[in-house]
Formats: sequence, C-alpha cells, structure tokens
Amino acid sequence: MTTMRAAILREHGGREQVKLEKIPIPEPQSGEVRIRVHACALNWLDVGVRKGSKFGSIPLPIITGSDIAGVVDKLGDDVSGWQVGDDVTVYPLVTCGVCEFCRQGDVMVCPQHQIIGEHMNGGLAEYVIVPARTLIHKPENLSFAETAALPVVTMTAWHMLIEIGKLRPNETVLIPGAGGGVASIGIQIARHAGARVIATTSTPEKMQKARDFGAHHVFNYRDDDWVQRVLDVTEGRGVDMVQDNVGAATWSYTLETLARNGRLVVCGSHSGTTFELSIPQIYHRQLRILGSNGGTYNGLRVALSLFNQGILRPVVDSILPLDEIHEGHRILEEHDHYGKVVIQMVS
Ligand SMILES: [Zn+2]
Repeated sequence: MTTMRAAILREHGGREQVKLEKIPIPEPQSGEVRIRVHACALNWLDVGVRKGSKFGSIPLPIITGSDIAGVVDKLGDDVSGWQVGDDVTVYPLVTCGVCEFCRQGDVMVCPQHQIIGEHMNGGLAEYVIVPARTLIHKPENLSFAETAALPVVTMTAWHMLIEIGKLRPNETVLIPGAGGGVASIGIQIARHAGARVIATTSTPEKMQKARDFGAHHVFNYRDDDWVQRVLDVTEGRGVDMVQDNVGAATWSYTLETLARNGRLVVCGSHSGTTFELSIPQIYHRQLRILGSNGGTYNGLRVALSLFNQGILRPVVDSILPLDEIHEGHRILEEHDHYGKVVIQMVS
C-alpha cells in the first residue's frame, strides 16, 4: 500500500473545502519519524486554518490536525531513542532551537516557531511525519483517543496557570467559558495546584460538568449578577488570577473580578480581539496582564504523567471516524460540545 486517506485543505473556505482524498504515504527524512495515526483531535486552529482567517500565510494544500496519537511506523536517518512500534503523542510546536528565546527556554516566542497542522502537515490522515524531538510516550493508561484529546489544550492550560501565571496553593482562580477544552483542563490543573476554582459557563449541564471536574463555584455568565457573585464568594476581595481564552467578551467583567495585585493570563480571543481598557484601573489596583502562547514540551510531559496517574482526566466530547470530519468542524463552530472532538483513524 502506497497511498493513505487524508483530510486535505486545498482552498480556504467552508467545511466542504476539507476534502477526503487518497494521497501518497509520506517518507520520513533525517531526524523525522512517520506515525501511523490512531486518533487526532480537532482544535479551533483547524477551523481557523480552514477559513484562512486571523492567520498569516498558510501554505496550501495542508492537512490540519495538531493533536496526534499513534504508533511509530518508520524512522528516518539519525533518529535515536525511538523504535518502530512505540506508542506516542506529539508536542505540536517545532522551533528553531538556536535563537535567543529557544536558548533560554521560551520556545513559544521563537520567531521561527511552527505548528504541526498549521505550517506543516498534521494528523488528520492515516500517516504523519513529525520531527523525532517532538515525540512523547503515550500515557499507557489512556486510549489513543483520550491521548489525542490532550496535547494542545493541556500544554496551553499548563503554560497559562503554572509557567506564566505561577498559580500558588490557596489562591483563587476564575476560569471563564468552562465548556472549552483549555478551560476544562484548566479547572483540573488549578485544583491539583491547590487553588480555589471558580468557573463560568452557560448551561446547567455545562455547570454540572465544571463541578464534576473540580470547580468549587460555578456561575452562569448569562445571569446579570455573576460578577457580584464572584466577589461575594471571595468576601469582596476578588480573584488572584483569571485564566482567559475567550477574549473581548469577557475582559471587562474579568478585570472587575480581579483582586488587587491580580493577574489576567490570556491565551486567546475568539470572541473578539479588541477591547477598550481603563488604564487607571490597571495601575491603581496593580493588575497584571500576562500573555501566554502555546506551551512547553516539558510542561506537556509533566501534565501527561498526571493524566496517566488518573489525577487529571481527559475531557472527550465525541469520537468520530475520518468520514465525519465535517461534522467535527460543525460541532466546534456551533459550540455544541463539552471537551474535545476526536477523529479516530484506527478503532
Ligand atoms: Zn528559536
């Protein structure tokens, strides 16, 4: 067999632009491995790349899919430490390794950084080629589908809360939009870090799930008084940190909920990208706004070990075959989910 099935994007546009085609199976070059993909989760990135919105130039055609779990199928030259047959997942960032930021460990701000599934072909195909240095052993206690649900949201939430936000025990953290992938993992990481967790979401069902994943208080952001209720449960003090990937729709409220010296850690803006800020409220209350971009290999590796121990739990909304990739995009675009949508290649 020399061909594989793949979900290819040849032009930007609607869901119909994702085409299921048979194409040649790629060969790994030096330093690369080929993975037989068992499962690959969808992210907002897949929708954004498809639409061609909000991003710089994307090379087309491309196979998206940044959350990969599978089995090492073939090694390129000069690969050590990995064997054909290893169960793996993939750290989805590829960085230059030599710039000042890479050398000091801040790989997320590497000017050369590329994302597997955005700048190079990803895992929505039967096989994918990745640099060997991006591999991480699959947590042995998780299925391939559960593992595929993890890398992007886990490294993002870990980076926001632990590496950038430096969340400490007994602090209070607010996580808006708790139905999303980053938020639902963030609730668990914050709880594990010893923080008190307040979440907001929009329906009774999502509120219950946020409680199930460990949120101490959950409010419906459609209720007018939710900001006051956050202040009430913090004795009027406010929260130490907000983990926000919602963007413009939440900033005016979340800044109100911050305690003095509080920090807003932000990694996304899908509800809107601009917001009018009152500068005095930043310096009077000594607030800090911290950008967080992606996550680190090591943060992901550490968090995956917590999943393997059962301390953190994957949040899988649905598992679909590759034939239903368009339905997967629809679920994301219509916010019709709690947790990750996973495409399974091998059942
Ligand atoms: Zn670099």
